[in-house]
Amino acid sequence: MPIDLRSDTITQPTPAMREAMASAEVGDDVFGDDPTVARLEARVAEILGKEAALFTPSGTMANQLALRAQTHAGDEILIDANAHIYYYESGAPAALAGVMCRCLPGVRGIFSAADVESALRPSDQHFPPTKLVCLENTHNRGGGSIWPIDRIREIAELCRRHDLRVHLDGARLWNASVATGISERDYAAHFDSVSVCFSKGLGAPVGSALCGTRETIARARRFRKMYGGGMRQAGIIAAGALYALEHHRQRLSEDHANARALAQGLSRLPGVELDPDSVQTNMLFIRVPKFPAATLVRSLDEAGVRVLAVGPDTIRAVTSLMVLPADIPAAVKIFESVLKRA
Ligand SMILES: *Cc1c(COP(=O)(O)O)cnc(C)c1O
Repeated sequence: MPIDLRSDTITQPTPAMREAMASAEVGDDVFGDDPTVARLEARVAEILGKEAALFTPSGTMANQLALRAQTHAGDEILIDANAHIYYYESGAPAALAGVMCRCLPGVRGIFSAADVESALRPSDQHFPPTKLVCLENTHNRGGGSIWPIDRIREIAELCRRHDLRVHLDGARLWNASVATGISERDYAAHFDSVSVCFSKGLGAPVGSALCGTRETIARARRFRKMYGGGMRQAGIIAAGALYALEHHRQRLSEDHANARALAQGLSRLPGVELDPDSVQTNMLFIRVPKFPAATLVRSLDEAGVRVLAVGPDTIRAVTSLMVLPADIPAAVKIFESVLKRA
């Protein structure tokens, strides 16, 4: 079996999770009849301290519903240039909500209230109305970086003053909470809407959720149907998500410890540029300036370690519940021998 560090989306449901899914009570959720989906939505809303939640097939859909429900075509949103919503969602902000993305220069995905302030425009017929600011915590292309809560607060306060909505792409908010001890609810309090994923480190096979006010979620529910995301006996997958919420959140600290150990091991190898202190959660961005990343990734794959090339000389490795502590020294050894031969 290769050591698979490509993503935390590769996680497979555990036997206990499959059991919970197999025995889930279900109904037609588009009719509002699925008790397991209802339980999941209530539980997510409770954890995040929001009025309501909506179960979605993917994190992309949850994010795009947040945009669609809180903007109009021709509005502008402010977002980091490397944000998932902008970078990895197939042009959906333009295609589905019809909004313009104005990119802010984040450092590891993190920008400041001053960055937002300098992007504000006077109300004038020449300009698109700015409606929404998007943050991502933890930040995927930022290398699993965590937003400092004070920064979030400053941006949220600025947005309130200027009547802007704030959305959090919290696909990995669980990781941020476990790493900092700041609850999901305390993070979410600064946002009008929050998306979360169950299918990443939490290990559920499918599903995400969008949380917010009852009004925002009612609008999002309508657009979910429009986008083809109204699901019928979805309790089968919601049960996996519920199981993940109750049983797999705390264990994310193991993924973080494994990521740190991997970073420490790899940082000692010649040809690798990596500061172990930069690893805040379950992701590593490994710079290999002497080698084309794509070639190295192929050689690593043949030798039994799977990672992703995310730039010409950058490799991403992600830990998850599919990675055991014993896999870490084994992976470092494989990296070492492949680098020697490269
Ligand atoms: C994975 C991810 C999403 C959603 O991805 P889906 O594959 O559509 O579920 C959203 N935001 C971030 C930061 C992600 O990493």
